[in-house]
Amino acid sequence: MELKLRLRYNYVNIIQHFMCLYAQEGEVMDKNMKICIIGGGPAGLSAGMYLEQKGYENYTILERLDRVGGKCWSPEYNGRRYEMGAIMGVPSYYAVHDVEEFCGITHDGPKLNRNYKNKNGKVIDPFNPKKNPLKVPQLLKMKKQIKKMAEILETKYQGYDINGHRGVAEGRYDGFACTPGREPVSGTNENLKDLCMPFKDFCEKNGVELAQDVWIGPFTAFGYGYFDEIPAGYVLKYLDFQTTMNFVNVNLWTWENGTQYIWECLDAKLKNHARLNSEISKVERKDGKVYVTVNGKVEEYDKIIVTAPLYIPNKRDDGQQGMVDYFDARDDEKELFSKIDYERYDVQAFLTKPEDHPEISYYVFDNMAKERLGHLMVYYRRWKDSVDQVLTTYALRKHKNSSEIPYNTCKQMVLDDLKTMGNPASEVINEWSVYYFPHVFSEDYAAGWYDKVEAMQGKYDTFYAGEIMAFGDMDETAEYSRELVERFF
Ligand SMILES: Cc1cc2nc3c(=O)[nH]c(=O)nc-3n(C[C@H](O)[C@H](O)[C@H](O)COP(=O)(O)OP(=O)(O)OC[C@H]3O[C@@H](n4cnc5c(N)ncnc54)[C@H](O)[C@@H]3O)c2cc1C
Repeated sequence: MELKLRLRYNYVNIIQHFMCLYAQEGEVMDKNMKICIIGGGPAGLSAGMYLEQKGYENYTILERLDRVGGKCWSPEYNGRRYEMGAIMGVPSYYAVHDVEEFCGITHDGPKLNRNYKNKNGKVIDPFNPKKNPLKVPQLLKMKKQIKKMAEILETKYQGYDINGHRGVAEGRYDGFACTPGREPVSGTNENLKDLCMPFKDFCEKNGVELAQDVWIGPFTAFGYGYFDEIPAGYVLKYLDFQTTMNFVNVNLWTWENGTQYIWECLDAKLKNHARLNSEISKVERKDGKVYVTVNGKVEEYDKIIVTAPLYIPNKRDDGQQGMVDYFDARDDEKELFSKIDYERYDVQAFLTKPEDHPEISYYVFDNMAKERLGHLMVYYRRWKDSVDQVLTTYALRKHKNSSEIPYNTCKQMVLDDLKTMGNPASEVINEWSVYYFPHVFSEDYAAGWYDKVEAMQGKYDTFYAGEIMAFGDMDETAEYSRELVERFF
């Protein structure tokens, strides 16, 4: 009898263990389980917030740097904070809004505005028919195509704008509506398969190629790559029609103390603050547990959520590694994550002599073409009321089909461009080339990369979140964490 009971107990244990190994959507999880979150950026901290709100309080956020915020990095100069990373949001940043509410803060930063220059530094007004009489037919055509874009996104591509990429390659949508209530939505729509193709091809297929001239500013200039290489799914999930119009109408949010402040406030409010300076050397997953070696000591967890990079194809100077380098990565993880590439997006923070300070931020459209790789695409003046504050420049130095421009070459090109623009830098005070916008290319997107990774959620007691799973902006990553918690915890 005792043997029978023991066997039954073992059998139940094995079943339970097996079920734990592979969390299913909607499965009820033990609220006391120990959850490790890697990364104290928007994705990791918001995962902590949503877990806490759902009653999971036994989570630990491990951050390798001595600050939270990740790519929301807002250092201080002369008593004010400038932006080395994320700058702005839009009114449809619902997850960021959740964070603001949780922390009792709001988007109280300086209003954004910008003008345009050509590559020779001449101020232009490319969308104004009065200033471009010869381009009126082209501008009218563009207007028509933008209207068409609005229509096809609403009808032919219904379901295109939900967070994440589940089902797209199979012509399905499955997630939560892009509305304040984020109601669950799902359905089939064969047309969604078009989102796998590069955005340029998508526009040509739909006869809306001139729409690219509008989408390019908040996409390529913001470091997200070129339309002939990046799948339309990324472009349109970030720049859904409403968001694009918010950029056109400069209906944007900023934060007085910088975007980093949002995440500092969230960290301060969480029951478990991020553990800074956490150097993870090893992660082993065995027997239904996750063993994380942090600063030389082994810690035991039940589940792990990775919001840090999954794969970095080259060695980086900042020491950042992909998860496959320090985890006991399995073959399916290695195989899938090796498809990830990222953008080389360089930011320089500089000062000018007062007389050289630009009156406003500038977009340099000519330099957003891949033929002008490495050139200054946009420079940002944050504070209107002073000329002794920091300005920032933005440049991309890699395209899928061309070799990477070396960092210092690109830096010099940008400084030369500033002279051409009539706003030379007197001093560079900060700079970085950040691991930016991880993504896969069309072939892998179309081959169901996202559905394969989504099917692995919970396998090995591991969940994958952060930029790669949705898109490289604050809200998409935080929103993905919300949905991950909603779906699996
Ligand atoms: C120049 C620039 C401009 C941008 N502009 C905007 C904008 O205007 N609006 C917008 O919404 N977004 C913008 N973004 C993008 C936005 O900042 C990111 O998409 C967002 O921060 C991603 O959040 P995340 O948590 O997924 O990743 P990250 O912010 O990269 O955070 C990941 C965290 O993980 C940590 N980490 C990495 N490896 C490990 C490890 N092994 N162990 C522990 N911790 C680790 C990192 O240090 C980091 O803190 C911009 C980014 C940059 C760089």
